Amino acid sequence: MTDTVAIVLAAIIGLAIGSFLNVVIARVPIGESIVKPPSHCPKCGTVLRLYDNIPVLSWLVLGRKCRICRATISAQYPLVETGTAVLFALVAWRVGAHADLPALLVAAAAFVALSAIDLQTKRLPDLVVFPSLAMTAAGLVVAAAIDDRFDDLGRAGIGVAVGFGVLLVIHVAKPNGMGFGDVKLAALCGLVLGWFGLADLAVGLYAGFVLGAAVGVALMVVGRVRRGVTIPFGPFLAAGTMITILALGSWADWLRDLYA
Ligand SMILES: [Zn+2]
Repeated sequence: MTDTVAIVLAAIIGLAIGSFLNVVIARVPIGESIVKPPSHCPKCGTVLRLYDNIPVLSWLVLGRKCRICRATISAQYPLVETGTAVLFALVAWRVGAHADLPALLVAAAAFVALSAIDLQTKRLPDLVVFPSLAMTAAGLVVAAAIDDRFDDLGRAGIGVAVGFGVLLVIHVAKPNGMGFGDVKLAALCGLVLGWFGLADLAVGLYAGFVLGAAVGVALMVVGRVRRGVTIPFGPFLAAGTMITILALGSWADWLRDLYA
């Protein structure tokens, strides 16, 4: 498979996974099953037919409304779907058609779902964090075996310990500022960042804090949040990680090519 094929495939799979993430985002925080009942209108409960459940397209064709009760369907649905597709395509562009791609796509999907849930509920459910961590780790073990990348796997292990450890210290020192959910999410961030390298690990975790502080200050300045009110930190950890793995490696490669 060429890299271009991988990027296109990743985008298409991303649309479908984004559709699934919408279900996870809506149901996991309220303790509903993600399998049953099938996708339905949140207002009237009408079960969606297959052609009403096509990512983005159905939302546009139906005029952003439920076919039966005409209730407005939130723009969050197509946003999560397109966002996941774009993120998947970017990850495929970054790593190419290699064995570690599936594991990294799982992590990217987890970051989308957890960011949305954290923004809405200020929680990072174990039901999403733990399976994501397990699937990403298993995928990286397989990739290490296929491509003989056990050094990278070792660094990924270091990443888990560092991510979890650093955030745990902050959580213990300041339990109100940082929840234990953030500590567990940082383990997933560390796993992915460590796989790319120790520089990525340091920059990626730090980027989460910089992004969080910058947005926190900006929100205070425009008066959207009061001093002392906590804003969810999960989305910043996730964004710092994704931006770092997408950007830092490319810069490093670019510099290497420049001086090679
Ligand atoms: Zn309806």
